[in-house]
Amino acid sequence: MTITEKPALDLLIAAPRGFCAGVDRAIHIVELAIEKYGAPVYVRHEIVHNKYVVDSLRAKGAIFVEELEEVPDGVPVVFSAHGVPKSVPVEAETRGLAYLDATCPLVSKVHRQAERLVEQGRHIIFVGHAGHPEVIGTFGQVPNGAMTLVETAEDAETVVVDDPGNIAFLTQTTLSVDDTADIVAVLQRRFPEIKAPRGEDICYATSNRQAAVKAIADHCDAMLVIGATNSSNSLRLVEVAERHGIPARLIQRASDLDLAWLNGIRTLGITAGASAPEILVRELVNRLAEHFTITEREEETTRETISFKLPRGLEAATV
Ligand code: SF4
Repeated sequence: MTITEKPALDLLIAAPRGFCAGVDRAIHIVELAIEKYGAPVYVRHEIVHNKYVVDSLRAKGAIFVEELEEVPDGVPVVFSAHGVPKSVPVEAETRGLAYLDATCPLVSKVHRQAERLVEQGRHIIFVGHAGHPEVIGTFGQVPNGAMTLVETAEDAETVVVDDPGNIAFLTQTTLSVDDTADIVAVLQRRFPEIKAPRGEDICYATSNRQAAVKAIADHCDAMLVIGATNSSNSLRLVEVAERHGIPARLIQRASDLDLAWLNGIRTLGITAGASAPEILVRELVNRLAEHFTITEREEETTRETISFKLPRGLEAATV
């Protein structure tokens, strides 16, 4: 009997990848809330966009809902990392619900900028994706009509504002760095007086993960991105790889991978969106090792050291 040798496959794994500080904090908030208050703890919207994370927290006693009206009286509720419109905490307070806000501090920073700009009387052009919860949350920080959404460079070419001398732009935190630069260039050409945000709104984790994909893309024949289909930053990683001329696929779990897709691939790039845990990367590597003789190498473009503080009440719960 002859033993068929497994084909060779080199894995080039991007770093940084996976969990960012905002996701880590949000998950920790739900876990500590369950510890402090006991199950169930309600969570408005998926705490982060990842099914594995949501299912794991559900198993610990979290109940995920889309709106506060689904939360019964007298139980605590956590708001997701994407942020919520101002009306949501107001509604929770009106109902006497104890709530914990897991909004990423970098999203909250954009919220505060939006408020300040409106106080200054400026109209805001917001660069983002319609319908994303972060966009809904940020629009909900300011009165109706104070902000206009621009999704593409084409939108930026045609957007109409009443007072071009008195406008500003802000962006979603999880956009494509390159696309956003193109959109902002159009806005700045059309509206030379437009006020830019203080510092970059696209967050460090989004930028770093895109840069890490760019760094390995030239050396890969294809790229797998682990992430959810509703995860904005994961989808952007797929686009970054494709723009570097290699085929790329988004998968949620190793079992989603059609092995036939790897035909002819010698070096496979792997990364994970900011809401995908490392365990899913290992799961993928293990599945590949069953079918290929793999070598594995990590390419680190930068080391992340950022962490965010927990809300005060929960820090006390940890001692
Ligand atoms: Fe915060 Fe960026 Fe992570 Fe979103 S991707 S939770 S903005 S650090």
